[in-house]
Amino acid sequence: MTDVLTTEQRRRNMASIRDRDTRPEMVVRSMIHGMGYRYRLHRKGLPGKPDIVFPRLRKVIFVHGCFWHMHDCRYGKVTPATNSDFWHKKRTGNVERDRKNIAALKAQGREVLVLWECWTRDPKMIARQIADFLPPRRYSCKTPVPAPFAAKR
Ligand SMILES: [Zn+2]
Repeated sequence: MTDVLTTEQRRRNMASIRDRDTRPEMVVRSMIHGMGYRYRLHRKGLPGKPDIVFPRLRKVIFVHGCFWHMHDCRYGKVTPATNSDFWHKKRTGNVERDRKNIAALKAQGREVLVLWECWTRDPKMIARQIADFLPPRRYSCKTPVPAPFAAKR
């Protein structure tokens, strides 16, 4: 009985940890916003519901929690002492799903960037990743066409 309660509790904890507005995701979002890009959140209908979507650019970003998605870092390598089989199944299931989702997105002609939670502790490294992934800001559709060129059209 204690086991059942514990599992239920864990399930709920997990649900709240995986809530959309996680801290790492907020860090990435505010950085992208600060760099002047427009994006959409959690586009339904895309494999894996990517956290951040650039529809015109056909690019998506996932912000992955190191533990849940088994990043190759000290947070991702943690093995819980209790219920380790349960966690192992859960996490390897996530990794497998991630692999399939990313493959499906690429098959649709989308580019995928995965940013890891532990990287968000290093804003410069995140900024570099984003800058490499997205086209230079000046080519964005949001940029107004300069007046002399607009007039010639
Ligand atoms: Zn990590």
